[in-house]
Amino acid sequence: MNTPLPPLGRLLPVGLGCLLGGSLFAASSGPRFYGDPPDDHHPWAVHDGNRPQPKRVTPGTFSSADRPGNPPSDAIVLFDGTDLSKWQTDKGAAAPWRVVDGMMEVVPRTGGIRTREEFSDCQLHIEWAAPAQVEGSSQGRGNSGVFLMGRLEIQVLDSYDNVTYADGHAGAYYGINPPQALPLNPPGKFQVYDIVFRRPIYRNGQVLDPGYVTVFMNGVLVQDHTMLEGPGGHMGRTKPGPFPEHGPLSLQDHGNPTRFRNIWYRPLPPRPAEGGTDGWLTAEAALAKRAATAAEIRADAATLRDQSDPLPEMQRLFESLVYAPDAAALERASRLAAEYVAKLEALPAAALAGKKDEVKQNAEILGYLAKFKILPADFAPRTALQGMIKAHGWDKR
Ligand code: MG
Repeated sequence: MNTPLPPLGRLLPVGLGCLLGGSLFAASSGPRFYGDPPDDHHPWAVHDGNRPQPKRVTPGTFSSADRPGNPPSDAIVLFDGTDLSKWQTDKGAAAPWRVVDGMMEVVPRTGGIRTREEFSDCQLHIEWAAPAQVEGSSQGRGNSGVFLMGRLEIQVLDSYDNVTYADGHAGAYYGINPPQALPLNPPGKFQVYDIVFRRPIYRNGQVLDPGYVTVFMNGVLVQDHTMLEGPGGHMGRTKPGPFPEHGPLSLQDHGNPTRFRNIWYRPLPPRPAEGGTDGWLTAEAALAKRAATAAEIRADAATLRDQSDPLPEMQRLFESLVYAPDAAALERASRLAAEYVAKLEALPAAALAGKKDEVKQNAEILGYLAKFKILPADFAPRTALQGMIKAHGWDKR
């Protein structure tokens, strides 16, 4: 939903972050004291102006039957059609597969190849084509495989008009879960896999996140956040268990001259279970993130100390209390608020009238803090500001 900002959001200073170049707040903007505050499992308020901005990515282009597309700007390219320098055999020798017309082709019986680089959680894009000339049947037809972390296989098979066991079709998490559909192009044409892979996370033998794999084949969902149950494989039923931190991407030599092109991946940000600081967190992690955010805001507040204008520091200190209580910050912000009220009360009526918007803004900030019990409902400076607003009729339209 795209709701216009209320007056408070428009009035509040949104450029304070610029003062903190490079820190959490460098790219932040947006309303403060606005949406519901952080809670036991959410370290950010709703619509939080301090929440880090998502990174900017220039999108790539989609592939056509004849031509591979371009990767997005932050992708790590594993094969761009020119050479196999990023690939090796299982023993570390140069990859013996052929590069032809911008594609790599399995040279049967030379063995599988794998990336020199190792990684784990990723968005993986890979395109493959089974031989145009159909030979063999079932698992013998256009068989290869994409092995995530060198372990679990997302099957590559010419499943176009080909019957085999369901958990061995193209798009299967091999031996574990069949694809939901077989949206294949005819043999010889390229198929596109877009895969989202999350490895299992264990701590002290306890599973924190079992890991999941999602696969789109030619834009059609074939694995829907399928829970990992070990590496899978031929005939044996595998069990869930920990994976290493990193592993290569491996491609299988199953004796068929399958072709691949346009292979790239994007590493994924950490999940809460492995130290990510956004999304639904454990109470312990949410509290830690809230404390860290509050500390950064308090450090920013200290740079805003200004005898002639206590408001920026006061507002920032109050903002820090939204994330975590702090007796010293509360004491100083309360004193600045009392000083602010005393200054207002000393102003001639005409001068005070010119501060209508400012007074209303600060009353709203204190009202937000009272609403969420960060300040007591009878916080004296708030009561004083409310009194001024009422006395001048500023609460009426
Ligand atoms: Mg295979």
